[in-house]
Amino acid sequence: MIDLSLDPGAENILNMLKWMGKEKFRPLGIECDRKHEALPVDHPFFKEFMSFGVSFGMRALEEQGGKKKNGGGPKKMGRIGIMAAEEIAYWDQGVAMSLPGPGLGSPPIQIMGTEDQKKRFFGIFEDKTMPRWGCFALTEPSAGSDVSSIKMTCRKEGKFYILNGEKMFITNAARADWAVTFATIDKSLGRKGHRTFVVEKGTPGYRVGRIEQKMGLRGSETASLIYEECKVPEENLLGGEEHYQAKEGFKGAMGTFDMTRPAVAAMAIGIGRAAYEYVRDFVKENYMVNRPIPRYQKLKEKLNHMRRKLDTGRLLCWKAVWLMDHGKPNTLEASMAKAYCPPAALEVTREAMEVLGDAGVRNDYFVEKLFRDMKVFDIFEGTGQVQRIVMARRLVNLPAS
Ligand SMILES: Cc1cc2nc3c(=O)[nH]c(=O)nc-3n(C[C@H](O)[C@H](O)[C@H](O)COP(=O)(O)OP(=O)(O)OC[C@H]3O[C@@H](n4cnc5c(N)ncnc54)[C@H](O)[C@@H]3O)c2cc1C
Repeated sequence: MIDLSLDPGAENILNMLKWMGKEKFRPLGIECDRKHEALPVDHPFFKEFMSFGVSFGMRALEEQGGKKKNGGGPKKMGRIGIMAAEEIAYWDQGVAMSLPGPGLGSPPIQIMGTEDQKKRFFGIFEDKTMPRWGCFALTEPSAGSDVSSIKMTCRKEGKFYILNGEKMFITNAARADWAVTFATIDKSLGRKGHRTFVVEKGTPGYRVGRIEQKMGLRGSETASLIYEECKVPEENLLGGEEHYQAKEGFKGAMGTFDMTRPAVAAMAIGIGRAAYEYVRDFVKENYMVNRPIPRYQKLKEKLNHMRRKLDTGRLLCWKAVWLMDHGKPNTLEASMAKAYCPPAALEVTREAMEVLGDAGVRNDYFVEKLFRDMKVFDIFEGTGQVQRIVMARRLVNLPAS
């Protein structure tokens, strides 16, 4: 049976996040939004955050997934991770995505990397006084949802692989010490031809392209990466060539979505909750006293609808991670949560704007920022359409390709 209780340790983590969110994430996120730029890499907040020495939210889930693959015991961190993800997003998801650490680059290294590779690429994060970033570079100008059609090439020359191509929309790419990079040895082989490299800053032929201007999540920096005859040492091929002969490479990388999709869904719920609570308080303060009762009744119904949507989404997320925590397959439930939560939370933020009336679209009223922040949640980590395809395949047992 699903147990919804939390132990005191988890309560403490969530309380600490509430404090940090209110004092730091929210004000910094609003500042980034107004300036249209992420916090600079030398911003004191990053060092302050690192001094807490915790990893939670998305990273807690990723780390847990890695340990599980390596034969660890039963885990209970999934639910705490997902509640932390919701709580942080409630305060500011843009700033959360800019936090130092390996980010989405972590799961492929944990799942595919050799012990030596894990030591090398995660080792740089051990110094808690120096903020460092990693990133996950899969998307290309002509390959987003259809990741099997990536065009970035790699060819072997002596003890090096030579990479050519471009990646785009990569979170933290411009500040990353390394980028987990997906390429193909032969496009005609489809997924079997894919190889995953860790490309380090300073590698000849590797450079940052453009930093994107986004409608939302402006606290997080998104950039393109250019690889021109980029010479990557063979020891940076994740898992070594034998890993790919076992035909597991790409499948392994995609398996990380079962961990990260519920977390991304929970983040959407966090943003939706921020909009809901803001407007609930607005209604309490402004409508109960000053407006005629019939209109207030309508607003109560609207608030009730918003709350129901958020609670339903949250339960889908919790079910998906409960399965993960118990070592059960959760691909269907992870996609269900990811398909449901972003549109539901977007609807909540839209309704919140409507309740506010003209104030809803004024950017000093905060909810319009949440609306802009929300939109991308239906795009990254697999769009809504892609989740529906994954679910349909699972429900009727169609093959994955
Ligand atoms: C803020 C942000 C951060 C990101 N961070 C990263 C990152 O760190 N690393 C990374 O690799 N990528 C990242 N991405 C990229 C993101 O993963 C892609 O944008 C996403 O996969 C969608 O790809 P696309 O933009 O090329 O859209 P497309 O795949 O071209 O899709 C366009 C539209 O077509 C629909 N569609 C596509 N295929 C089908 C189909 N088979 N059936 C029906 N409809 C379909 C989609 O649902 C969508 O509506 C980020 C994106 C954003 C916005």
